[in-house]
Amino acid sequence: MIVRAESLGYRYPVPRRRGNGPLVFPKPALNGVTFQVEEPRLIALLGPNGSGKSTLFRILTTLLSPQTGRAEVCGFDLQRDALAVRRQIGVVFQESSLDRKLTVRENLTCAGNLYGLQGVALVKRIDQAAQQMDLSSRLDHDVQTLSGGLRRRAEIARTLLHQPRLLLLDEPSSGLDPLARRELWHYLRRLQVTEGVAVLASTHFLDEAAQCDWLLIMHEGRLAAQGAPDPLCEDLGGEVVEIVSDRAAELGSVLAPRAGFHVAVVDDVVRVECPNAPALIGNLSASHGEWIQEMRMHRPSLADVYFHATGDLFRP
Ligand code: ADP
Repeated sequence: MIVRAESLGYRYPVPRRRGNGPLVFPKPALNGVTFQVEEPRLIALLGPNGSGKSTLFRILTTLLSPQTGRAEVCGFDLQRDALAVRRQIGVVFQESSLDRKLTVRENLTCAGNLYGLQGVALVKRIDQAAQQMDLSSRLDHDVQTLSGGLRRRAEIARTLLHQPRLLLLDEPSSGLDPLARRELWHYLRRLQVTEGVAVLASTHFLDEAAQCDWLLIMHEGRLAAQGAPDPLCEDLGGEVVEIVSDRAAELGSVLAPRAGFHVAVVDDVVRVECPNAPALIGNLSASHGEWIQEMRMHRPSLADVYFHATGDLFRP
């Protein structure tokens, strides 16, 4: 078992002000989060801003103690055996912590020393970690001369020195351009496959989550859904029809009683999960055509999984 989290809860003690707004007294940032990671898979912690991803991340990296519940990483209790947990994990925070004035090799050497690695063993581990992230030719470059994507890879290489079993990355693609984002996920997948490392990365990008083996979907501090991406979408069944209408509320109440339909109205859009979208579109055009400005249909996506589980649109 790589992670076992049971009923994790956390509420920040102080009220917060967003911009010039009023003081907000906090709701729980995490509220009864339970999940397990049994195998070394590529896992996305998916959720919009404020859903609790970073708080869960801080707990799993032993920076924050849960106020309720408990968790283990690789069999070690996060609170009782924090040091042992830290030996099992590699962590990449949102903010880069590389020393920009040093070379990649110097950064890795300092980090290796902190893990008690020295001499030939350290040189060997640095070479291996650099190879894993295709950074061998950059080892003697100053960090400040590297692109954002290369820096992120250097940071990941640094976390690999002590051969962790679980890699935890907080929004690793934030600030990267689309090509660097794609490359980053290619390397994360490669590490998971070739090194057998479990990778848990938080993201608010649906396309990144869709390529993972398993999703933990967060909403307002709770785990709204979890599962592999395709089955999560397939479990919704059928298709989704979005109907733009200036009488959306009325149209919603016409459709809601129909068996097998899951109907929600958001602003001027009626959203219907139904077993047969073409039939619904045909029938509605005939019966309520004058109420309807536009109709679209699609197979269920992760955005629909999120909506189904939370009743909210996914707003990253
Ligand atoms: P995410 O990473 O998904 O954006 P967070 O875990 O950062 O979510 O935030 C979850 C909730 O906790 C939000 O309501 C946020 O405002 C609140 N929060 C996060 N950090 C702090 C903090 N240091 N002090 C007070 N409230 C916080």
